Amino acid sequence: MTAKIINGTEIAENIKNYVKEKVSDFEKTYNKKPGLAVIMVGSNQASKVYVGIKQKTAKEAGINLMQFNLPKETNHKELIELIKKLNEDEKVHGILIQLPLPEQLDEQRILEKIKFRKDVDGFHSRNMGKLVFGRKEIVPCTPKGIIKLIESTGQEIEGKHAVVVGRSNIVGKPIAMLLLEKNATVTICHSKTKDLKKHTKDADILVVAAGKPKLITKDMVKKDAIVIDVGINRTDDGTEKGKLVGDVDFDSVKEVAGFISPVPGGVGPMTVASLLLKTFYAARHAEEKKEKSKE
Ligand code: NAD
Repeated sequence: MTAKIINGTEIAENIKNYVKEKVSDFEKTYNKKPGLAVIMVGSNQASKVYVGIKQKTAKEAGINLMQFNLPKETNHKELIELIKKLNEDEKVHGILIQLPLPEQLDEQRILEKIKFRKDVDGFHSRNMGKLVFGRKEIVPCTPKGIIKLIESTGQEIEGKHAVVVGRSNIVGKPIAMLLLEKNATVTICHSKTKDLKKHTKDADILVVAAGKPKLITKDMVKKDAIVIDVGINRTDDGTEKGKLVGDVDFDSVKEVAGFISPVPGGVGPMTVASLLLKTFYAARHAEEKKEKSKE
């Protein structure tokens, strides 16, 4: 039996339509759209593509995405000044800094300057800290999307052995926390893990976020496991853009897994859908709070 394919594009489309409906009610109530400011420093080609996708999807959902393109030589002071301005702007409910930033900028120092309520990416240490305490108010977009993909299979998470490959702050660590919160037994693997296969082979749920094409092969996966491939890698297929592949050898792994998410069409669209959802929540929270303060 081959694995069922988890259709991230379809699930993300449903979330986008849900947000669209909610945004329409929001607009009627508050006479404004939820506003999302996206700051891009420099002209990283991949970042341009990602911001373009966010722009298009936000528009479809009725969210006002305001793009700020700064030159690559921007310094801390200039970037922080813009963030402070956006923190105070009532039309802006969410602020996202497109990562990676150029070398001269300290990412975490910059992310800490975003008002934590507007930190729709969930990378502010206050939001990360809340996640560790199990208070999931603003959770990073990709891990939030991954949980939805796992839940879409209809399989229980509780009591399962979940193995996460990768320990980055934006994917590996937060998804491990969310799985723990869902009562899975969690193992985190990374580049210094000895005998990766020993761990992955025992996973009921395997989340791979290493950025290494074909890292996970058929012999490393337990029969009927749920496999979520977060990786986005471009391989040289002779074309200018290259072919987009994940970290999992999809064709072979689908022969043993129970469920598998493809690349493209798996986690990627879910990340954007989560961003829309969180921008709407941030907008609703901000406007409700303003109303309350008038009472
Ligand atoms: P990162 O480079 O910050 O972290 C990679 C992690 O993988 C590290 O913790 C490292 O220890 C681990 N790793 C590397 N090689 C390994 C190996 N051989 N065995 C075990 N562990 C290994 O990357 P990231 O930002 O977490 O992103 C990971 C991948 O996910 C990238 O391909 C990235 O493009 C992709 N990504 C996708 C989305 C999405 O929306 N689909 C979002 C974020 C990241």
